Amino acid sequence: MDQRTVDVVIVGGGPGGLSAALVLGRSRRSVVLIDSGHPRNEVTYESHGFLTRDGIKPFELRELAHEQMKTYPNVTIVSDLVEGVVNEQKQFKTTTQTGSVYYSRKVIFATGLKEDIPDIPGLDQVYGKSVFSCPYCDAWEHCDQAIAMIGNKQDLIHYIRLIYNWSKDLIVATNGPAKLTEKEKQELSQHKVRLIETPIKEVISKDGFLEQIVFNDGETIYREAGFIVDTGAEQATMLPRELGIKLNDKHGFETKEHGKTSIDGLFIIGDAAKRFTGLMGAASEGYETGVYMNKEFVEEDWFK
Ligand SMILES: Cc1cc2nc3c(=O)[nH]c(=O)nc-3n(C[C@H](O)[C@H](O)[C@H](O)COP(=O)(O)OP(=O)(O)OC[C@H]3O[C@@H](n4cnc5c(N)ncnc54)[C@H](O)[C@@H]3O)c2cc1C
Repeated sequence: MDQRTVDVVIVGGGPGGLSAALVLGRSRRSVVLIDSGHPRNEVTYESHGFLTRDGIKPFELRELAHEQMKTYPNVTIVSDLVEGVVNEQKQFKTTTQTGSVYYSRKVIFATGLKEDIPDIPGLDQVYGKSVFSCPYCDAWEHCDQAIAMIGNKQDLIHYIRLIYNWSKDLIVATNGPAKLTEKEKQELSQHKVRLIETPIKEVISKDGFLEQIVFNDGETIYREAGFIVDTGAEQATMLPRELGIKLNDKHGFETKEHGKTSIDGLFIIGDAAKRFTGLMGAASEGYETGVYMNKEFVEEDWFK
């Protein structure tokens, strides 16, 4: 249990929160970063597309950041769950599950999202291992393999064209009537992409590796990897909502430039605001917000 007053509390220790902590630490700000340890990509073995860290394990990226943060004794990383943030006169009070209380002039939420995958038996066993959602994150490793696209959504055709870029050995299993026009269905047969609208009974895998998709009519198709067409994702925490921050039409928290919100001193960055920033994007936002926030501190203190 801890109680202290710092310049900044950062809620969430993914690439967004950690990057903000680094630049604020280097700016001599006292920072407490509180993280509950469940990032959006925690189910994956490898992360891709982060410059110099392509293929790194999600938690290794964090461990490296924690190690390097030891250079800055003014930054404290705490493993805990934030349960409350209230905006009291000119300061925020942050309370945690273990009973710690932190007072700060500013707060950053970098709390990310929680994935919500379709309710198909066996799909949770392969998600993040051999079935993914973001081709830029995971398609290269499955180039030219036997791929299944699973699910349905408006503008499905665009996502099919995209995945076809990585493998032409493609089936599309929409688990019900496809949201495709007759012309789009013709496009698929011209490209030898099989469309299966029969509901999916189950997904069979071994150690996270997709093996077969079994349909309600008994057909079974061998596949090596897959992409879920439309994963839902919810906010990991609704604490910003309790402070009065609205959700936008994409279910991200409403923010302005530099991650500012309608409340002075409260910032939201990364997936929590943008739905999908990727690791680099979240880290970049953390840096930008950290720099902007330090500028605010400097101005506020100069004219105090
Ligand atoms: C399966 C999958 C694979 C992916 N692969 C890649 C990839 O290869 N490359 C890529 O660039 N992107 C990838 N992504 C996307 C990437 O994971 C996110 O864009 C990125 O993690 C967003 O960073 P963030 O800092 O906003 O949030 P996160 O990394 O999700 O971190 C948020 C942190 O906040 C913590 N938190 C939440 N609420 C609280 C609370 N109340 N108190 C304390 N802590 C809290 C969480 O535990 C978590 O640790 C993938 C996503 C998924 C789902």
